[in-house]
Amino acid sequence: MNMLMHEEVVVRRGRRSGIYIVVAIHSTQLGPALGGARLWRYGALGDAIADALRLSEAMTYKAAAAGLELGGGKAVLCAPPDRDLLAAERRDLMLDLGDVVESLEGRYVTAEDVGTGADDMAVIAERTSHVVGLPAEAGGSGDPSPVTARGVERAIRACCEHRYGTPELDGRTVTVIGLGHVGHALTGRLHAAGAELIASDIDAPKQAAAQILGARWIEPDEAIAADCDVLAPCALGGAINEVTIDRLRCEIVCGAANNVLADDSLAERLDGRGILYAPDFIANSGGLINVYGELHDLERGQLDELVDGIGDALDRVFELAETRSVTPLAAARAVALERLDQTSRPSGTSLSASRAAVLPASRA
Ligand code: NAD
Repeated sequence: MNMLMHEEVVVRRGRRSGIYIVVAIHSTQLGPALGGARLWRYGALGDAIADALRLSEAMTYKAAAAGLELGGGKAVLCAPPDRDLLAAERRDLMLDLGDVVESLEGRYVTAEDVGTGADDMAVIAERTSHVVGLPAEAGGSGDPSPVTARGVERAIRACCEHRYGTPELDGRTVTVIGLGHVGHALTGRLHAAGAELIASDIDAPKQAAAQILGARWIEPDEAIAADCDVLAPCALGGAINEVTIDRLRCEIVCGAANNVLADDSLAERLDGRGILYAPDFIANSGGLINVYGELHDLERGQLDELVDGIGDALDRVFELAETRSVTPLAAARAVALERLDQTSRPSGTSLSASRAAVLPASRA
């Protein structure tokens, strides 16, 4: 990460809410910078700026690796340190964010992220049109989780093809850690595909849902060490860390969670153990593709085609990793950087211009 390569950083104190808003645009080289608005408690404004810089850069690579005509950006909202926002304060904050986004004239498009949701996006939309992730009833794409789950299934199939020579899931054992929005949808898809399922969640009542989906329940502490073909972390980040890596008894790690690896160096350790790792920012890019579809008014079939392309993207990553003798994580980063290097699209091209560029002529 290079913290000094951003195109634009805006820090503004909302005139209604009095709350600091940071918007970082890392790159608009491939299209408008898209990234969610994170509402979080930061110890100091500098921490919020650092987070926005880091997260916006990661969005550039995520979009580039997924082959999308999008750049990387992020908004960070500094929640009060000691209390939750009242409903009226929250509304004021979202209106303030809407004004900041509008002032960027389409170079940044906001969406939901940790701490914000579709209802917040509907408020932001009162001040700007550069917002996605609106509720379905407001014409938005709604919950992205089913689309993310579809993409993770594709990613798992690509991993199986690479490891076992077939993408078939019939009879493969998959452990899903975290039966939340994505994990639940993924488990349903894998069940339908004939996989043998093991499931776990710290929320014990989810056991009933696991049973309905034909999954064998396993306690959260044991899930990471389940004997299986594929481990699918679908909870929080850091599932694979210095301690858990030695407990793994799977051949593939491929899930929806962001930051599956607590540290990038663990990618080498997984490689050393002969465990195939699907870089999370490719495997879970269905969520980003979902809002991309909203941005470009894609039909369901076009969206599915893009999501199913996650499998092809991983095929290329695994091939490159082998050719260059690097980990899939290093190969995925290289794919993203090469795409950025090859693109001479001038920074700051407007959203309407990028809309025209998004689809092949036959479909645009
Ligand atoms: P969610 O909050 O709906 O589900 C997370 C689930 O994990 C919950 O059921 C929770 O109880 C469980 N959990 C938490 N810690 C656990 C642990 N230690 N062991 C077992 N279970 C645990 O979240 P989600 O929307 O399903 O997202 C899951 C992950 O995927 C997150 O890391 C998210 O950032 C990432 N992701 C989600 C999307 C999307 O479309 N929702 C897109 C891209 C990435």
